[in-house]
Amino acid sequence: MDDRLIQNNTIKAVYSSDLEELLSRRGLAHDFNVGNIRCKYCNKVISERNLFALMPEDGTVSFICDSPECTEKMMIAASEDNDIEENKNQ
Ligand SMILES: [Zn+2]
Repeated sequence: MDDRLIQNNTIKAVYSSDLEELLSRRGLAHDFNVGNIRCKYCNKVISERNLFALMPEDGTVSFICDSPECTEKMMIAASEDNDIEENKNQ
């Protein structure tokens, strides 16, 4: 897995190098390790293998799995939140 980041105001995809640090900082390391963390959209248990992104939200963190449905929903949510400017010139 490479270190790509999807980055804007609300979404930052976090890959393995940063994951452990982020989880422990948020107090979520234990929940993650015992399988208590679930995808925001499909409710599937998140592991290092299927984690696609984390979305910080109102003091908590939402997790997104790597299924195409969920990554697409995440992208749509991101573009709505940030009022992306495409089509403005048409
Ligand atoms: Zn999912």
